[in-house]
Amino acid sequence: MLDDCLFKWERLSSRDFNIYQISLAEQNQRMAKIYLTLTILFSFVLAVTACEAKREHVIQGRTMGTTYQVKVVTGYFQSISGLKEKIDERLVEINRSMSTYQKDSEISRFNRFKKTGKKFRISIDFFRVMRSSQEIHRLSNGAWDGTVHPLVDLWGFGRSGRQNKVPQKIKITALLADIGFANIEVLEPGFLVKKRAAVTVDLSSIAKGYGVDQVADLLRNQGFQNYLVEIGGEIFAAGYRLDGKQWRVGINRPRAEAAFNEVYKVVDLHNQAFATSGDYRNFFEVDGVRYSHVIDPRNGYPVANGVVGVSIVADSCTFADGLATAIMVMGHDSGLELINRLDEVEGLIVVERPDGRLVDYPSRGFVSGD
Ligand code: ADP
Ligand code: MG
Repeated sequence: MLDDCLFKWERLSSRDFNIYQISLAEQNQRMAKIYLTLTILFSFVLAVTACEAKREHVIQGRTMGTTYQVKVVTGYFQSISGLKEKIDERLVEINRSMSTYQKDSEISRFNRFKKTGKKFRISIDFFRVMRSSQEIHRLSNGAWDGTVHPLVDLWGFGRSGRQNKVPQKIKITALLADIGFANIEVLEPGFLVKKRAAVTVDLSSIAKGYGVDQVADLLRNQGFQNYLVEIGGEIFAAGYRLDGKQWRVGINRPRAEAAFNEVYKVVDLHNQAFATSGDYRNFFEVDGVRYSHVIDPRNGYPVANGVVGVSIVADSCTFADGLATAIMVMGHDSGLELINRLDEVEGLIVVERPDGRLVDYPSRGFVSGD
């Protein structure tokens, strides 16, 4: 159209002045029309792209002795104002319930509560995690046990700090007497009952997963559809990333010397949770023997089954988190058998052979890339 116009101007300019004047007015009119059309077109394209355009917001903070990160993909003009406050509020609430680092948390008060056979009232958060814990305990035949913490402490992986030495057998045996998740009853609608006065509960291997699920629920309830929630490596991914592709997470190479960003395998997630448990960072060595922070509640010793990492994909992060720790104790044979038996649950177990080689045991439907 513009070319056409220029051509006309050249042609007309060769004629007499009057004609040229008239043509110029005509041409201005035409140009104005073009500009108007272009402006309308441009505004329309802008409006359409603005509707289509997306943004990724990143919210970061600290909780449960670690960091959290939330990524939310929204429409270009959609606001997330006040969202971080809501997330922090929810996480503070969960910590007040299940943090053993807070003296006045529900869990700490329950651990000090010495009356057997008496009901101890708990919040819905604590109740839900206790119910999931019972399920993990049952599925793992007691390999996962929420009452194991006195042993974790004795081995130097708890609040009392690192010892880097093997405890006396007599101390291990003494503590074993009060270990056993069956010593705690969980009653509807929200009560715990101790069967042994000295039994205590620690949910550190499952609570992060619960925190992730709760933040994911909060985002869903706020109307968001595309987001990724991560607390200390435990994840829930909903919808799609900014580029429209599926969320993708990396499994860290399960080696003590591996950098935190060294990727062993990548996994695509879509409305799924992902949790990892590993003993390649938290351990000590005496006389060439490695002692892990994951304790077998049946004999009181750190597990030594060669499993160095377990990653689980499931619908719930609470479940994935607890199961990953459970399988660290169960070992690769029964662990893999359990994952394959569960619907909508996939996973990868990595075993370190005595010669140092890493061997992968993926579940039947586990899909990953390098
Ligand atoms: P992290 O919390 O380091 O991400 P995990 O989720 O695997 O790793 O949890 C490990 C923690 O679980 C240990 O630090 C300990 O407090 C606890 N733990 C150790 N052994 C067991 C067990 N057999 N059952 C339940 N919890 C355990
Ligand atoms: Mg765990």
